[in-house]
Amino acid sequence: MTAPAPIRSIVIVGGGTAGWMAAAALTRLIPAGVSVTLVESDEIATVGVGEATIPPIRSFNALLGIDENDFLAKTQGTIKLGIEFVNWTRDQHRYVHPFGEFGFDIEGVKFHQVWRKLREAGRAEAIDAYNVCALAMTAGRYQPPVTDPGSILSRMAHAYQFDAGLYAKYLRGYAEDRGVVRIEGKVAHVPLRAADGFIEAVILEGDRRIEGELFIDCTGFRALLIEQTLHTGWESWAHWLQCDRAVAVPSASPGPEITPFTRATAHSAGWQWRIPLQHRVGNGHVYCSADISDDAARETLLANLDGAPLRDPFILRFEAGRRKRAWERNCIALGLSSGFLEPLESTSIHLIQSGIHKLMALLPDTGFSAIERDEYNRLTDIQLEQVRDFIILHYHANQRSDGDLWRRMREMAIPDTLRRKLDLFRNRGRFFRYEDELFAESSWIAVLLGQGILPQGWDPLADAFDDDKLAFSLSRIHEMFARAAQAMPRHEDWLARNAPARTP
Ligand SMILES: Cc1cc2nc3c(=O)[nH]c(=O)nc-3n(C[C@H](O)[C@H](O)[C@H](O)COP(=O)(O)OP(=O)(O)OC[C@H]3O[C@@H](n4cnc5c(N)ncnc54)[C@H](O)[C@@H]3O)c2cc1C
Repeated sequence: MTAPAPIRSIVIVGGGTAGWMAAAALTRLIPAGVSVTLVESDEIATVGVGEATIPPIRSFNALLGIDENDFLAKTQGTIKLGIEFVNWTRDQHRYVHPFGEFGFDIEGVKFHQVWRKLREAGRAEAIDAYNVCALAMTAGRYQPPVTDPGSILSRMAHAYQFDAGLYAKYLRGYAEDRGVVRIEGKVAHVPLRAADGFIEAVILEGDRRIEGELFIDCTGFRALLIEQTLHTGWESWAHWLQCDRAVAVPSASPGPEITPFTRATAHSAGWQWRIPLQHRVGNGHVYCSADISDDAARETLLANLDGAPLRDPFILRFEAGRRKRAWERNCIALGLSSGFLEPLESTSIHLIQSGIHKLMALLPDTGFSAIERDEYNRLTDIQLEQVRDFIILHYHANQRSDGDLWRRMREMAIPDTLRRKLDLFRNRGRFFRYEDELFAESSWIAVLLGQGILPQGWDPLADAFDDDKLAFSLSRIHEMFARAAQAMPRHEDWLARNAPARTP
């Protein structure tokens, strides 16, 4: 039996963040001799938002060999050390989800367990006091992490905030320099092979035909190939994540200070993001259209900016959910065409990155093995469900007294996978991470505690330690971390010295 031939041509349709991330990564990863063509239409705008990321994006940049400071300068980028959640638990309440870990485990016992024990005795500060990223966030400071495990700076982790349009442009330059061919045009028709229903080509308006063997659908919410052509189907999660619109607007920076974090502020029918860049601030109000009108959502957004709006606000409509199969026949959907989870934890760009990694790990040949396709879809499903659960947690564990949305979210039945996590944590602070789960234990702990879920007890192993010694260790950790954070340069000064962007 002869083995099927390797793939020789890949066609990416769509030139938003997903399309250009895929194009850039493919030029780096696929064997020489495989052609990569990207088709996009200047007449169809990209979604134009998507400015905050999570730390694994650094490994994507490292894979491409991108210099971090050059990248930040060219995308008006800033550093993100975590997310500040304002009014999520209840009004006038604030907590942070910092990247980086809390404290140090003590003789194999998790740090949050000894912290919980001492907190009960009134001998521990709030958990943020033991996280160097949380302390640096609050102080508005930043210094790059180091790999030496003896240094406190090895406990730092960071991601980026950038201008989505400039990011796609940056990746486009990278990909075109390495041989990706961009074709301008609007796809009008997608013929299928009679024998097996695989995509044969895309036909542009004006009848130009672009053939390929593997097609990557990056057409955003349109899902031109995976849904409009292959009718893969959609699984809605709108009963859990009920926000279905966002109104977005950039605003002028309020002053020289650039906070090294994204802020998410809860409102009565949704929440508002604030993402500081070097040249401006990105803002948006994510809301549930059953609870508030578009006009009222726009007014709420504009009333809560800290700088003048730089354009008219624009509305985006969406539904939380996923494509039933992200890989169908010879088509793989990446980005918004594959599913959508609201940007509360800035996960969409990461899911594109993760889809690209899975594609490379399971790169098909022209035989398109069903086993590889099914594994891709299985892994994609698990990851999306885990991220979905994490986002639901923020909404479900709320004590807000305003707005019907928050009451419904509190009272709704949640997925069993999240229920198990919540029950285990509530009991004795136990936490388990399943199947390469994206968010680390420290992320879950930050949000669980931040949303007001204090475990009733703690790991009995923590009782083996002497309370006085533990209290001393915790105060030393806090002192060390606070000193390290205070010694860092201010974030805006670090940017000005290392990655200054051009004034637009
Ligand atoms: C309100 C909101 C806020 C978000 N915030 C974040 C965030 O902070 N962090 C994060 O990680 N993600 C965020 N996201 C998600 C992020 O914006 C997307 O994941 C990312 O931009 C990828 O989009 P895309 O490339 O899939 O689609 P798009 O940007 O919509 O690009 C689609 C492309 O397809 C092309 N196209 C479509 N139809 C055709 C056709 N017929 N012929 C030719 N070309 C075609 C278009 O020209 C365009 O180039 C947010 C999303 C929303 C809605």
